[in-house]
Amino acid sequence: MTDLLTTGFRNAPYWWDAAPLGEPAGGALAHSYDVVVVGSGYTGLRAALTLARAGRSVAVFDRERPGYGASRRNAGFLGRTLKKSYIELKASKGADYAAAIYRDLVAAYESTLDFIQEEGIDCHAVRCGRLIAATSPAHHALLDRELAGMKADLGLPYSMLPRERLREEMASDLYHGGAVIPDLGSLHPGLYHRGLMERALAAGVAIFGSREVMAIGQIGRANERFQITTAGGQTRARDVIVATNGYTPKSLPWHARRLIPFVGYMAATETLPPALLAKQLPHRRTVIDSNLDIDFFRPAPDSPRLLFGGATANGLEDPAAIAGLLHGRLRRALPDLADVKLSHVWTGQCAGTFDMMPHIGRHDGLWYGMGYNFAGVPMGSFFGLKIAQKILGLPDGATAFEQDTFPTLPLYRGDPWFLPLAMRWFAWKDAKLARRNLHQG
Ligand SMILES: Cc1cc2nc3c(=O)[nH]c(=O)nc-3n(C[C@H](O)[C@H](O)[C@H](O)COP(=O)(O)OP(=O)(O)OC[C@H]3O[C@@H](n4cnc5c(N)ncnc54)[C@H](O)[C@@H]3O)c2cc1C
Repeated sequence: MTDLLTTGFRNAPYWWDAAPLGEPAGGALAHSYDVVVVGSGYTGLRAALTLARAGRSVAVFDRERPGYGASRRNAGFLGRTLKKSYIELKASKGADYAAAIYRDLVAAYESTLDFIQEEGIDCHAVRCGRLIAATSPAHHALLDRELAGMKADLGLPYSMLPRERLREEMASDLYHGGAVIPDLGSLHPGLYHRGLMERALAAGVAIFGSREVMAIGQIGRANERFQITTAGGQTRARDVIVATNGYTPKSLPWHARRLIPFVGYMAATETLPPALLAKQLPHRRTVIDSNLDIDFFRPAPDSPRLLFGGATANGLEDPAAIAGLLHGRLRRALPDLADVKLSHVWTGQCAGTFDMMPHIGRHDGLWYGMGYNFAGVPMGSFFGLKIAQKILGLPDGATAFEQDTFPTLPLYRGDPWFLPLAMRWFAWKDAKLARRNLHQG
């Protein structure tokens, strides 16, 4: 297995090479803040920045070094879709609701790109386009239906790619063509997070790393509604934002009961000859396959490597074993890369939800934004902004994602014992769809 790894192999996110985790000096803990934020990812920092610029005193606490969570570990795909497809949502909740949700997804996507541009955050944000590679003829047909519906109702562009033209997009014969969404984007998640953190610090946010929030109690005074106990002392706040997504601890039981934490896996290849890389993804688009349990690929934005991931929630922890599993996925999709080694392998915590929807709202006075189901780059940024706007009392804080319910299961406490079964159910659904088409034609 070790022959798959380069000599300088790192069991750490590739993104940390350019954006290593730091430890900002948070300074002395104040007696109280207007707002305390738990979690220093995109959700927490975007909220903190917006609030600080509006004149609020803000402290952000992270259990680890700031940016330790998924925000500096993800694949950097910037999209405007959910695990719950537009068609499914329209069928289950009606056309108006589905359109409102998908309009907000577009707003999340566009506002994240606009923010990066306005702030001048140098994080390789581009509208590179995305290939969704169909894993069967039936998946191809379903993709066409789904994207046609979104084009008709929301004006979102796409084009279908037949199997015989797949090599125009990807050096693979594995897939049954796919769909190209020309205006979806990508970025360097580490540099985006670092840019956000620098701006939050410059706006006066106090960011404390290695400071777990252990308890949040209500004290009920007008300007000091909450007492927050951290690993480094106590403070008070008028508002508290829970922004812990896949890292949500059991000490926040209401939230933990509503999230399904799962591990995402990624790897980076060694540097590749530029021509070999260009042959794999000639248009430098991001690629995901059409399965529920996705494999995904992209070129690194800042060096000639391929970054890829998949095999979500497979339960492996040993980096060499993860490398072996991911390399198998790489070879299967892009056989030209069968002999390349991996320079980085890493994991990160994501959060699913029982209705497969992200959730934003307030419970027991605590604001929260979470459950991004693998779409937290735009959605975390968006929910962070929306929560800040709500705290500021601005009408812009409204979003179609606010719901009356944030479902859980009886007796569920945040340990997703059923995850292997859920992944098998995903695989079964994918296979069933693929078979249906074979029988039909
Ligand atoms: C491998 C992988 C690939 C992904 N790819 C994509 C992608 O391509 N596109 C996309 O849109 N999304 C992707 N995601 C999802 C996305 O990264 C996340 O949804 C997003 O980063 C969540 O941001 P956040 O700020 O809500 O939480 P995080 O960035 O996860 O931050 C949560 C923080 O809370 C802290 N914390 C937890 N408990 C406490 C406590 N008690 N006290 C203090 N701090 C605490 C943690 O230490 C952590 O730093 C991916 C995720 C993974 C893991």
